[in-house]
Amino acid sequence: MSDPSGSNQVPPLEPYNLYTSDPVLVEAMAAEGAKDDHDLLVAFGERVGSEEVIAWGHQANRHSPELRTHDRYGDRVDEVEYHPAYHELLGLSVSEGLHCLRFEREPGEGAYVTRNTLLYLMSQVEVGHGCPVSMTSSVLPALRHQPDLAEVWEPRIVSRAYAPELAPVEQKPGVLVGMGMTERQGGSDVRANTSIASPVNGGGPGGEYRLTGHKWFTSAPMCDGFLLLAQAPLGLSCFLVPRVLPDGSRNPLQLLRLKDKLGNRSNASAELEFDTAAGWLVGEEGRGIPTIIEMVNGTRIDCTIWAVSLMRQAVAQAGWHVAHRAAFGSTLIDKPLMANVVADLEIEVEVATLMMARLSGAYERAPIDEAEAAFTRIATPVAKYWLTKRSSPVVREALECVGGNGYVEESILPRL
Ligand SMILES: Cc1cc2nc3c(=O)[nH]c(=O)nc-3n(C[C@H](O)[C@H](O)[C@H](O)COP(=O)(O)OP(=O)(O)OC[C@H]3O[C@@H](n4cnc5c(N)ncnc54)[C@H](O)[C@@H]3O)c2cc1C
Repeated sequence: MSDPSGSNQVPPLEPYNLYTSDPVLVEAMAAEGAKDDHDLLVAFGERVGSEEVIAWGHQANRHSPELRTHDRYGDRVDEVEYHPAYHELLGLSVSEGLHCLRFEREPGEGAYVTRNTLLYLMSQVEVGHGCPVSMTSSVLPALRHQPDLAEVWEPRIVSRAYAPELAPVEQKPGVLVGMGMTERQGGSDVRANTSIASPVNGGGPGGEYRLTGHKWFTSAPMCDGFLLLAQAPLGLSCFLVPRVLPDGSRNPLQLLRLKDKLGNRSNASAELEFDTAAGWLVGEEGRGIPTIIEMVNGTRIDCTIWAVSLMRQAVAQAGWHVAHRAAFGSTLIDKPLMANVVADLEIEVEVATLMMARLSGAYERAPIDEAEAAFTRIATPVAKYWLTKRSSPVVREALECVGGNGYVEESILPRL
């Protein structure tokens, strides 16, 4: 490998095509249904591997989002300010339909597999902004429990327009949607929720309620609306809660503070309080968990995709490094022990990629194939468990291959 400066420092792995440089991905996703979208995926692989998009990823994580609770006149605004790079990343993902492509075609026509491939490519460069992308991509199966609400929101969810300013949903060309389940006293056990919802004019499916309480972890709080769980008279129920009300006033959702998190730094996660905020019941009262779980399920496969994407990016960086860096008289990849480590890592990522591809194909066909639907029920938790467990040890091992430079933020490995 050429090293004109003679410094033995490794050139950055950029620009490069994240799709065409990953033949296992190309073959596996084509076999599962993405083959007609090959050109689109080649173009996207090129775009996300450009110096510009890679730089956005670094900037969005270096300059964390900031909470602005009040405007200069002392009125509450409860807004989060992001670095422009975050908006660039989210705008790119939305314009490519990462949040809605799966609903743009009929099941079996490859849209879900292609969308998952796009998410996988993008997430190697920046994963934090994928949080609102994933939640929005997952909300429709839950929201469709309430057709009158879905009628207003669905055309704006299945839209390629990125419109970050807060405004009534009816006035927006595109919207993003988050979810609030977890409270201080319980996350896994959401039955412990204490937020309450009181009906206005009798309530009922699609009816208006007033919500009072809190959420302990509300990610992507600049979303246009949230599915929130709260206790209604008949039990825990699911509500659609917009940030801005139809008359243009702000729904009283107060962002108390943003979490100072391990990783996921480009993405804001807020502690939220609300006092008589307006929300509309989605589905039946008392059926909140079965309703919102349909949204949660969509985000579960995205967790597996994120886990594989982090592994893949780390191993790509390690492979690149050891092919360029020399020590003790030869390049690192020519050392038998190093070749052994990198080969093990590569095999693990390839197997993980095949697992992700198989699951993506099952999600593609599940609405029209009972056996595939049954497969997703077993395979999703298994894949999510295994791949998220394996992701950090694989990244850590890849980081060690890069040596001291792997500990430096600019290398991307600490972020992964
Ligand atoms: C980056 C980030 C973003 C998030 N964004 C959101 C969001 O947007 N919306 C939202 O609602 N929530 C969000 N969460 C919160 C998340 O949903 C909860 O943290 C999660 O559900 C776990 O709940 P908990 O923190 O209360 O942990 P606990 O429920 O207290 O669990 C603690 C530990 O005990 C284990 N455990 C729980 N029950 C059992 C059991 N029965 N048997 C054995 N072990 C058990 C758990 O697996 C875990 O290991 C976010 C969290 C993070 C880290």
